Amino acid sequence: MKKVLILGSTGSIGKNTLNVIRDFPDKFEVAALTSNTRIDLLEIQIDEFKPRIVVVRDEILGKRLRDKIGNKCKVLTGNSGLLEVAANFDYDIFVGAIVGSNGLAPTIEAIKRGKTIALANKETLVVAGELITSLCEKYNSKLIPVDSEHSAIFQCLEGENKASVEKLIITASGGPFLNKNKNTFNEITVEEALNHPNWKMGNKITIDSATLMNKGLEVIEARWLFGMTKDKIDVVVHPQSIIHSMVQFTDGSIKAQLGLPDMKLPIQYALTYPERCKNNFERTNLPKIGNLSFFEPDIEKFECLNLAYSALDAGGTAPCILNAANEIAVDKFLSGKIKFTTIPSFIYKALEKIENHKSPDLVTIYECDRLTREFVSGLN
Ligand code: NDP
Ligand code: MG
Repeated sequence: MKKVLILGSTGSIGKNTLNVIRDFPDKFEVAALTSNTRIDLLEIQIDEFKPRIVVVRDEILGKRLRDKIGNKCKVLTGNSGLLEVAANFDYDIFVGAIVGSNGLAPTIEAIKRGKTIALANKETLVVAGELITSLCEKYNSKLIPVDSEHSAIFQCLEGENKASVEKLIITASGGPFLNKNKNTFNEITVEEALNHPNWKMGNKITIDSATLMNKGLEVIEARWLFGMTKDKIDVVVHPQSIIHSMVQFTDGSIKAQLGLPDMKLPIQYALTYPERCKNNFERTNLPKIGNLSFFEPDIEKFECLNLAYSALDAGGTAPCILNAANEIAVDKFLSGKIKFTTIPSFIYKALEKIENHKSPDLVTIYECDRLTREFVSGLN
């Protein structure tokens, strides 16, 4: 029986992780759950999955939940609670399903204990990829991707020699504005940007998918997860989201992983790896899907993808600046303070303004994250 800690159990990935765990009661047990503010949903999850401990990041709401549930389970609060549970509590698999760079510190605690990390929280690898991968090596901690593209690549690489890889080919749906004229981008509303054609996800990643920043973050994520340089990572637009990504080998052969756009499959694979377990998820019916199509991404139209490439080229803390600027800009767009087209311009300004530090340690990364947030918060 594997004990699972889910950081961010009330989000889209968190809920899907619990959906998977529900189907395998003899394989997994929920050790701990965490939320930011959604304590009502967390309480429902406590009743069903009976974790021994939960963390609510919001201190006031955490205390409210503690008073309400009595001694049903222990309730910790705040960022210190998230660190405490990752660093000292008993579990086997750490599922990183928080959104944003807030996932970084608890993930590091889990890595230092040599835990298995099922990582959805791509921002952690974007802001500190070099540090995270070296810590994983040092503490013998296994990083298994949950992001569907990276899960696909991970599956294609099983049994292969890394030296035989010519290219990773990451697929992108293209988001809701794939065929929209760029001249009309400044009229895009929050509602339109939140309406993703293929995937149901949390708000932040849904906006990232509309700007194609999500694909940029995924290229950086792939660079660290698979130890490939940027020239070996291609992005191809594939609007049907059936091929989740591919690997091309030195003999020209391409391996792909296919499936319906449903995160339960990559989550299950990350939890059961290296085993494959039978489930009753809907099967992919290729004749019903009919056509699969592919295009080059338009980096003139989707500037965020280009900015992510530049940050990866620049290295050091540039991806951390990119990520922090994007998190603040997306927040501002979601709360109606800026236009869709202002998101890339804020990120560009931050990359110009904030100093880049090479091979940063954790203190430098946190300082860079803080400075960028402060700078972009002040823009309008
Ligand atoms: P959601 O917004 O749906 O969920 C985020 C979770 O994190 C919630 O449990 C939320 O709590 C909690 N949370 C939010 N902010 C904080 C914070 N500052 N500190 C602690 N906890 C916090 O996000 P998703 O599930 O969509 O995404 C999670 C991660 O997985 C992201 O990094 C995303 O890029 C990645 N990912 C998501 C995919 C998807 O299909 N959704 C696909 C691939 C990757 P509360 O509910 O209380 O707000
Ligand atoms: Mg993805």
